Amino acid sequence: MKQVIVIGGGPSGMMAAIAAARSGARTTLLEAGPKPGRKLLLTGNGRCNMTNLEDDILSAYRSSDMENARIMLRSVFGQFSVEDTLRFFHEEGLLTSVEHGSYVYPVTGQSSSVLDVLLRAMGSLKIKMKFNEEAIAVEKAEDSSSAAGEGAWCVRTKTWAYSADSVIISCGSRAVPSTGANGAGYELSRMLGLDVTDILPALTAVSCSLPEPDAKAYVRVPGSRQPGKDSKRSLEDPLYAASGTRTGAVVTVFADGEMIARERGQIQFTQQDLSGVVVFNLSRYVMRALHSGCEVELGLDLLPDAPLENVEKMISDLSSRYSGMSIEKLLAGLVPSRMIPVVLAECELTGESIASVLKNFRLKALRLRGFDSAQVCVGGVRVTELDARTLECRSDDLKGIYLTGELIDIDGPCGGYNLQWAWSSGYTAGTHAAASAT
Ligand SMILES: Cc1cc2nc3c(=O)[nH]c(=O)nc-3n(C[C@H](O)[C@H](O)[C@H](O)COP(=O)(O)OP(=O)(O)OC[C@H]3O[C@@H](n4cnc5c(N)ncnc54)[C@H](O)[C@@H]3O)c2cc1C
Repeated sequence: MKQVIVIGGGPSGMMAAIAAARSGARTTLLEAGPKPGRKLLLTGNGRCNMTNLEDDILSAYRSSDMENARIMLRSVFGQFSVEDTLRFFHEEGLLTSVEHGSYVYPVTGQSSSVLDVLLRAMGSLKIKMKFNEEAIAVEKAEDSSSAAGEGAWCVRTKTWAYSADSVIISCGSRAVPSTGANGAGYELSRMLGLDVTDILPALTAVSCSLPEPDAKAYVRVPGSRQPGKDSKRSLEDPLYAASGTRTGAVVTVFADGEMIARERGQIQFTQQDLSGVVVFNLSRYVMRALHSGCEVELGLDLLPDAPLENVEKMISDLSSRYSGMSIEKLLAGLVPSRMIPVVLAECELTGESIASVLKNFRLKALRLRGFDSAQVCVGGVRVTELDARTLECRSDDLKGIYLTGELIDIDGPCGGYNLQWAWSSGYTAGTHAAASAT
């Protein structure tokens, strides 16, 4: 019986270990932290949005190499699909429920149930689990003097050297370092000679300013707590005035003036950022565009169901009906109250009508929040480094090394897509690692 070592006890590593053990390999999982699945427990606000039933799931994923990523996604999902994932969990005794039409959660509403079921399956397959065991190098056995065993590979930790016929690296990304995501997987990959893209935080809030901040222009926000003199605030920081506002919008991302992505849903203005699931999803595009040096703007349609002419007519009708009333009061039913001063200031600055600003409120994207608050990372080990069918490294020198999950340069939006990638890639790598090891 051949030995498979899995490095990393996240969802993709646990699934890889289960698949390898089911395929007949002696399997050991090394986890750097004191327990496995620390990030898994945080998912879906502790409820674990474990997959998504959307028909065209593959089109949701992004990579710096879309052409090859599509080939990999088709191959990997062809071997372990959303249906296979649901069947796997149902057979392991985890029932699921569906929300918002396609978001799948455990019926218990607890991410710990998903972890418990995976641990139970690993226990029954006699998978060895070693905690506080951080892999610091993966070396060819012939170059290593200390691994006890016959395998072609040696995985080194601070205290031990494990012999393996196949090694699956499942160390995740750099998102939320407190869960063990310290980027060690990128380092192990680089040490093996694999090409890793730049790693950027994503699925997080976006800091914005007005596109052409004018130092002389100020927004007055009656009754709000404002820093600085005379209760005035520079337009450079419009989100402060609007902070606390939640509203529905269609958000469009423009890179150097060209539309690159659009999504509809709830947005939220916080003191520093624009937030909400829609913004999180679009942050993947914002980050890539900012990183490649583009000017990035967000266009907010704050009244997505009303065409521009209707909004113009409504404001004009209201002005005639309530002549003499302040514009702030007239807009009461159209714009969340804390947005009104910001919208009016934008009209003054750009010379555009209120209706135009409501239909296309422009903000300049400055930066994203850091890795601490990112749900995933954009980037990773380039997909061309891996065989799309097996997730084994392509290089002849690296036969027997497999990668899974977020470590690979593929990312999905909110909604269960990233965990589905973890399940599918984990199962695929685990199955092939065991087969090639026998
Ligand atoms: C707050 C939050 C909420 C999220 N919610 C969802 C959601 O609802 N749905 C969804 O689909 N996705 C969600 N995600 C994303 C999802 O959790 C990740 O995409 C997924 O966990 C990636 O799995 P992974 O196995 O690749 O990596 P990880 O889950 O990061 O696991 C990697 C493991 O490897 C270990 N490790 C690292 N280096 C070493 C080493 N050198 N030696 C040994 N072990 C090592 C780490 O300690 C860690 O346990 C969320 C993420 C966050 C942060």
